[in-house]
Amino acid sequence: MKNIKELIIVGAGIAGVSAAVYAKRSGLDFLIFEPSAVGGQLLSMQAIDNYVGLGLEAKASQMAENLAQTLKDLDIHPVNEKVAKISHQDEILNIDTDKGIYQAKVVIAATGASFTRLGLEQEAEFTGKGISYCAVCDGFFFKGKDVAVVGGGNTAVEEALYLSQIARKVTLVHRRDKLRALEYLQKQLLAKDNVEIIYNSIVVKPQGQQFLESVLIEDVLTKNKRRLDLNGLFIAIGISPATEVFKELVSLDDKGFIITDEEMKSSLDLIWACGDCRRRPLKQLITAASEGAVAAISVYKYLKGYYISV
Ligand code: NDP
Repeated sequence: MKNIKELIIVGAGIAGVSAAVYAKRSGLDFLIFEPSAVGGQLLSMQAIDNYVGLGLEAKASQMAENLAQTLKDLDIHPVNEKVAKISHQDEILNIDTDKGIYQAKVVIAATGASFTRLGLEQEAEFTGKGISYCAVCDGFFFKGKDVAVVGGGNTAVEEALYLSQIARKVTLVHRRDKLRALEYLQKQLLAKDNVEIIYNSIVVKPQGQQFLESVLIEDVLTKNKRRLDLNGLFIAIGISPATEVFKELVSLDDKGFIITDEEMKSSLDLIWACGDCRRRPLKQLITAASEGAVAAISVYKYLKGYYISV
């Protein structure tokens, strides 16, 4: 008979790592799968503003390294395989990866989320040729050039602030007449000389020969279109959950996030979820870390027979 793990954690961002730490401390027999580097979205972030105890402006890349080190220190070695399919039979989950087949009594989904696409024709074609979803990763290529950022949330404003230190000019294009970003971020942005905000507007078409040269933007009130010359377009309109492998098994909300109870249990007893793949009121590192801990401890209780759903 195969070695059936008590738990498999899918994803080693902050939520998955936190779940792994608590699973280890609880003595569970488990694996954690991560096809790329440990750290998830931390790998494409800059400073960490809101994580208590880290001080102001802690570096995201440092935190990602610390997470990888924590796993090493606890003798937890992520399996570098991508989970392709999960099915269940008689209370046992079958987990197919790109390299093998595993079995577990419980899976914790910590698969996070990826950047939402605008959905433009030619968006994929220009990605890497002017269109980007990560200023920290790609901002350097636009030194002294003109760029635009799409979105009005915290991420869009942070991206615009970051780019304002590198690019010649940054235009923030937002579809409404108000930003939803936190007040202090808006204030910082408004104080920048090389930032312009265009409200009530959407990007409708990227244009260029080999690389992006301009975008067409449309005023949503007047429907007038105009050309904005630029070299880079950074899209920062939120995230979409990576829940493809779970969608046939558990209840998702209308945006595809896994719905759980307060203990992180999904609609199926065998699957639990934490972090950005889960529907939750506050998408922050600190909540992802705490949800990972809650998920692992709740799974431990469930497996040992004294879990009570609240
Ligand atoms: P948000 O969901 O907060 O904002 C997304 C923005 O994109 C909104 O302004 C939205 O417009 C706009 N948008 C969505 N879809 C489209 C579209 N199709 N076309 C044009 N615009 C669109 O996402 P964020 O990534 O900014 O933030 C995610 C979470 O992470 C939030 O909870 C945020 O607070 C948090 N965060 C916190 C930070 C911090 O505290 N420093 C830093 C970064 C993120 P509209 O406003 O009209 O809906």
